Amino acid sequence: MIFDYTYDQLVELVVSLGEKPYRARQIYEWVYQHKVTDYEAMTNLPQAFRDALQEAAPLAPLALATKQVSLDGTQKYLFRLHDGHLIESVLMVYDWGYSICITTQVGCNIGCSFCASGLLGKKRDLTSGEIVSQVVEVERRANVRIGNIVVMGIGEPFDNFEHLMNALYTINHPWGLNIGARHITVSTSGIVPVIYQFADLKTQFNLALSLHAPNNELRTKLMKVNKAYPLADVMDAIRYYVQTTNRRITFEYIMLKDHNDLPPLAHELSDLIRGINGYVNLIPYNSVTELAYQRSDKNAMLEFYDILKKRGINATLRQEKGHDIAAACGQLRSVNL
Ligand code: SAH
Ligand code: SF4
Repeated sequence: MIFDYTYDQLVELVVSLGEKPYRARQIYEWVYQHKVTDYEAMTNLPQAFRDALQEAAPLAPLALATKQVSLDGTQKYLFRLHDGHLIESVLMVYDWGYSICITTQVGCNIGCSFCASGLLGKKRDLTSGEIVSQVVEVERRANVRIGNIVVMGIGEPFDNFEHLMNALYTINHPWGLNIGARHITVSTSGIVPVIYQFADLKTQFNLALSLHAPNNELRTKLMKVNKAYPLADVMDAIRYYVQTTNRRITFEYIMLKDHNDLPPLAHELSDLIRGINGYVNLIPYNSVTELAYQRSDKNAMLEFYDILKKRGINATLRQEKGHDIAAACGQLRSVNL
């Protein structure tokens, strides 16, 4: 489908269909800026070329299954893929504008113990077109211009790296969705070799690491991926990323009551990340019916935050969105309807 094509790939396609390269820009503008849903609307393209495009790269928007709106304005979109799988994207409203959380896989194989997305395992990777078209479709249906993207929906983006990057290139492209790289953040559970690969691309996209624990023992308990990629290796990769790209790293830390929210762990965390250009985003845990974890008390969160601050670590407490419609972090799941 057309959303699968990066700009360069589209130029190749256009040329292979006997047209001039500038046609690629026209198509991109129709698809990503005007968001037309039919080649017939592309009135500045010859009819025969439109037909050829429909044949070679069909223009098929993502099908909406349902949409829910939260009390705080958050909108959760459930999309049905062509093979029946369902995925979710979440549109969040801030005072500075709109942000979207997008999905990269149907389910997730990483299986973190606190997360709903991993409960069923991974069914398949999304294509880059399926990743891109979440943004297109939400912008079109909500009639908004999205300014910020977080790749924090269902799935592990670094377990679907090629499709992820192609999608980000299209989202970032000036004739594509034209969303600035610095407004796009990819979150990973810490797939070490891919962190190096990502760093070596030297893009301006932001990276967030799901850290959640300052030592191996606890991190392995919470995230079994830490067995394959232990903390020391993850931190080496993160240091390499920061040095290579000169970008700041975000450490995500979900606050799980009596598991990782105790004061000594805040000290340990400070020591672990001291000297790295980055900051800690403390995230209130969102409950998942099947899982026993609880959210930390407000006081525990504030104390943890204070310790980090006093020890010279930059930290923020994340504002939570969409809890009432299970659209918050870690509550997204692939469902079978
Ligand atoms: N797989 C990637 C990106 C998707 S998860 C990753 O793990 O980083 C996005 C973020 O939501 C991660 O930091 C993850 O740890 C967090 N998260 C997962 N379950 C959560 C829950 N129940 N409450 C709050 N955050 C959660
Ligand atoms: Fe997968 Fe991320 Fe959920 Fe872990 S937190 S199971 S990596 S989606």
